[in-house]
Amino acid sequence: MTISTRFAPSPTGYLHVGGARTALFSWLYARKHGGQFVLRIEDTDLERSTAESVNAILEGMTWLGLEYDKGPFYQTERFERYNEIIQQLMDNGLAYRCNCSRERLDAMRDEAMKNKTKPRYDGHCRNRQVDPNEPHVIRFLNPEDGAVVVDDLVRGKVAFSNAELDDLIIKRTDGSPTYNLTVVVDDMDMDINVVIRGDDHLNNTPRQINILRALGQEPPKYAHVPMILGDDGARLSKRHGAVSVMQYREEGYLPEALLNYLVRLGWSHGDQEIFTVDEMIELFDIDAVNKAASTFNTEKLLWLNQHYIKTSDPARIAHLLSPHMGKLDIDPSEGADLVDVVRAQQERAKTLVEMAEISAFIYKDFDAYDEKAAKKNLRPADRKPLEAVQVALQNLDEWTREILHQTVEQVAEALEVKMGKVAQPLRVAVVGRAASPGIDDTLYLVGKEACLSRIERALEFITQREQNA
Ligand code: GLU
Repeated sequence: MTISTRFAPSPTGYLHVGGARTALFSWLYARKHGGQFVLRIEDTDLERSTAESVNAILEGMTWLGLEYDKGPFYQTERFERYNEIIQQLMDNGLAYRCNCSRERLDAMRDEAMKNKTKPRYDGHCRNRQVDPNEPHVIRFLNPEDGAVVVDDLVRGKVAFSNAELDDLIIKRTDGSPTYNLTVVVDDMDMDINVVIRGDDHLNNTPRQINILRALGQEPPKYAHVPMILGDDGARLSKRHGAVSVMQYREEGYLPEALLNYLVRLGWSHGDQEIFTVDEMIELFDIDAVNKAASTFNTEKLLWLNQHYIKTSDPARIAHLLSPHMGKLDIDPSEGADLVDVVRAQQERAKTLVEMAEISAFIYKDFDAYDEKAAKKNLRPADRKPLEAVQVALQNLDEWTREILHQTVEQVAEALEVKMGKVAQPLRVAVVGRAASPGIDDTLYLVGKEACLSRIERALEFITQREQNA
């Protein structure tokens, strides 16, 4: 039997972290078993569904590399099919028209509240012949006895008594089908045999199983994955920071870092933290997903991001870094080779945004010195080494890392000081702050002309300082 899983988002917002993890688990399960991964857009809520949101979901999936084998299928294009199934249930006496008034339903709910029981429809219209020309809904005739046992791949067996489940509306007065009906028809038609979804849907599962059985279908297997909490224990939401997958791209995360982070959110394999996608496919197992909710930890995501920045091919990182440079009004095709920049900065940045920020000095002059760095390294006593290195650099015909290294070293030797006494004022002069790649890389990437003019500017800064003293 071919395994088929699906991701079935409602397009009412961006693709968020929880949705992406559900999609990842479903995708991994399908890949692991050589099966199919289906994407279905559950857009029947016409008021809340938007085309932007569909695009955001597709974009997020593409960015993460969660490619689907079938779809996207849109539920709004399948109304005819849903009506066909509703009619089939009606014909078989498994669904019925109901025209109970709002007042009657409200009164029933109030009564249940008063008695502290679960509000449920009392089956009033089950045996009534409601005129099809009158406004009405259609309800599914839920079995009254027995229980539905969901044999969940994550939760284990969860039993629901049929007495707790009332006759669910499957078609609204306006003729539109409801969520539980559309999901059942789609999972059936799309041959889905493993449903992996958020555990907020667990209560829907016995209802869906009953409808499937009424249609003569064997229900799929279910796996309800627990929710994700923010670090304060509340359900993960915007106030915990980024929750939209695309916002992570904006903030300079690599897709493989986010995927690696998401796979470990509620799943583990020994104490392994780093997983390539191939390893995830090989090792992931839905049975090993935790029952308990998991907590989102931005520090850990940053750590993984740094790991992937450090270990990825510099040319690829350069490609991904380029738009972040653009946001700083830098065109990296003019000036230093961005791949060289990445090589020099790979160990120094946790995100691509940070890498762009700490690399801006290579392409454009900075506005002001970091105050602390200038105070410490652009003092009157630093004039001498700066002037000496200025002359030495001016005289260079070749601008290579080796020659630059030697030059700085020779200046220090000639002045009989440690190399840092030359390199540090030079660094602050050229970078504007006290941290940058090695001095040879720094000078090389900034280039001769800009280095010399920035040294000149630093000397003027020292002059002013002397005058103000
Ligand atoms: N459309 C539902 C949601 O976005 C998911 C339904 C399902 O997975 O069965 O929450």
